[in-house]
Amino acid sequence: MIIANTIQEVREQTALWRREGLTVGLVPTMGYLHEGHASLVDRARAECQKVIVSDFVNPTQFGPQEDLAAYPRDLDGDCALLEAHGCDLVFCPSVEEMYPAGAATYVNIQSELPRQLCGRTRPNHFQGVCTVVSKLFHIAEPDKAYFGQKDAQQLAVIRQMVRDLRFRVEIVACPTVREADGLARSSRNAYLRPAERQAAAVLWRSMQAGREYLRSGKAGAKELVSVMTEVLDREPLARVEYVEAVDGVTLLPVDEVKAGDLVALAVHIGKTRLIDNFVAGEAP
Ligand code: AMP
Repeated sequence: MIIANTIQEVREQTALWRREGLTVGLVPTMGYLHEGHASLVDRARAECQKVIVSDFVNPTQFGPQEDLAAYPRDLDGDCALLEAHGCDLVFCPSVEEMYPAGAATYVNIQSELPRQLCGRTRPNHFQGVCTVVSKLFHIAEPDKAYFGQKDAQQLAVIRQMVRDLRFRVEIVACPTVREADGLARSSRNAYLRPAERQAAAVLWRSMQAGREYLRSGKAGAKELVSVMTEVLDREPLARVEYVEAVDGVTLLPVDEVKAGDLVALAVHIGKTRLIDNFVAGEAP
């Protein structure tokens, strides 16, 4: 596995691959990799001839009060996992490599999309995501790029950006990998103390209650949200940021939930903010 720190190394390597007619899959990550990330790498491995994983904690997607400095990192552990999953090249640039001194250009979607859901409390987050992902697309020029359904708004935002900027890349959405008790795998789970870790399973229980509500044939978004919120409120360590039913593409709120709509939640467990979601009408 090649470990590349510079854009030039990636460009030289991908140019060689392209000359040989090989397809390239890209998996963008912020490192501290787990089985969720690994599932994206496996999917890329199965569908592309060469697999690049970027491992870069992107400062522009963190707010001023957020956990940039404390964000967990373990490049050695990441490389071991990536090697085991057949990654061909890991790109781990410095901040200066991705954002040269004086960098002032950002990619920003001028619609309601990045302002819904997480955008309400993280106003510049998706601008940071779009900016870094477009840089990665320019650098690696992948045929396909792999993103987790766990970050559903990120996926919707990336799809819109790719459409709008006419990127020549196919976006592939991958299902959420979970722990035995349903908690979605996340690098941020490392912050949870044991009691909080136990409490965090309430997100899954809340989503199960939501699914049950929809399965019973009801569709009212308001009632769905209150059913899910009730479950969350019973957990003393949980503080709800939002529970919402929205259109799967625009992420605008819906009154009646139909198949394909997104039911998303953000919940604080102690100091840790966790997000999760399910698509109405899809099996868990
Ligand atoms: P991150 O390192 O948290 O920025 O995540 C990198 C990519 O992995 C994103 O596309 C995430 O949606 C995806 N991802 C994170 N956690 C999971 C998970 N539990 N299951 C599937 N994909 C995930």
